[in-house]
Amino acid sequence: MRPVTSKLPQTGTTIFTVMSALAAEVGAINLSQGFPDYDCSPHLVHLVNEAMKNGHNQYAPMAGVMQLREQIAYKTEKLYGAKYNPETEITITAGGTQAIFTAISAVIHPNDEVIIFEPAYDCYAPAIKLMGGVVKSLELEPPNYRIAWDMVKRLISNRTKMIILNSPHNPTATILHKEDIDKLSAIVKDQDILILSDEVYEHLIYDGETHHSMARYPELQKRSLIVASFGKLCHATGWKIGYCLAPDWLTQEFRKIHQFIVFSVNTPMQYAIAEYIKNEDVYLDLPQVFQQKRDHFRNGIEQTRFKLLPCHGSYFQSVTYSDITDEKDAEFTIRLAKEFGVASIPTSAFYNKGIDNHILRFCFAKRQETLDNAVDRLMRV
Ligand code: GLN
Repeated sequence: MRPVTSKLPQTGTTIFTVMSALAAEVGAINLSQGFPDYDCSPHLVHLVNEAMKNGHNQYAPMAGVMQLREQIAYKTEKLYGAKYNPETEITITAGGTQAIFTAISAVIHPNDEVIIFEPAYDCYAPAIKLMGGVVKSLELEPPNYRIAWDMVKRLISNRTKMIILNSPHNPTATILHKEDIDKLSAIVKDQDILILSDEVYEHLIYDGETHHSMARYPELQKRSLIVASFGKLCHATGWKIGYCLAPDWLTQEFRKIHQFIVFSVNTPMQYAIAEYIKNEDVYLDLPQVFQQKRDHFRNGIEQTRFKLLPCHGSYFQSVTYSDITDEKDAEFTIRLAKEFGVASIPTSAFYNKGIDNHILRFCFAKRQETLDNAVDRLMRV
């Protein structure tokens, strides 16, 4: 047979899969891919069991189990003051990544331009390219990775269809501030520019900071597809359940694609999560739980030769290792896993041009014992 022409000739296997596999192979503590190494709530598992025993084992409605959509509407209004109609504006997805892919494929046509900020989570650019869209990336500078909005303004053309935002940010752990929101609002006002807002770490925000969801700001909300994740909320990334909030006209287009990618998402988990999040503490307590892990890990890293970058949210702590070696991050991360037994993610993986600032990303969504063992190993570097 003749080989197929690759649709993504420059794309390899995602760095998360590569590094988790390496960690398993060499027996390294896996602080690379972002997932907890402790279990989700036994009560939540019990609720899934109950849903299964109660016969919720067939297809869920295409847009998701209504009880769950209603709980999401309640939570979104309570936290961000925005009303979303569960019938027409909330769709349950098979995780954040599927929601992001679906959102991009629903609205991006060939030659449409999409602005992304690099380092960028790795699933944005391939989805844009697959739709024939053009990626316009703006590179942000460590350590603070603030968005220079005057540069964004310059990137905008009459082809700009979408801006992709991600706060709290993966991999840099930065967050959007009110000034960012004001500048963004001024830029998109009176323009036909959509926003895809990746808010999967909405509940993982520290030091009493506010999560500036697009849902809080009517000018932004009306043009936004907002993606959220129950994997993070429930400490169950393997369940692959998330959702997309969008005004009805956008949700209509979103669902046209969603129905043919996954049709619907597994039913018993949806019933269980709908029940679980009736207790608001399960998400309101998350900042405190993760801030404690962040602080513990940062205190540990301070005893090593790695230098901390700021961390305002997400599962991740970035560090520079410029004082240790001038190896490339993609090489050093492998050596760190093999020789010292700690797996991380090289930040260059999040740049189209592979920009290397000698920064690694560690995931601290781990048991204290795991973090302590990792720090012990990093102290030897
Ligand atoms: N979001 C996770 C991370 O950044 C990875 C998820 C995945 O592997 N697709 O580590």
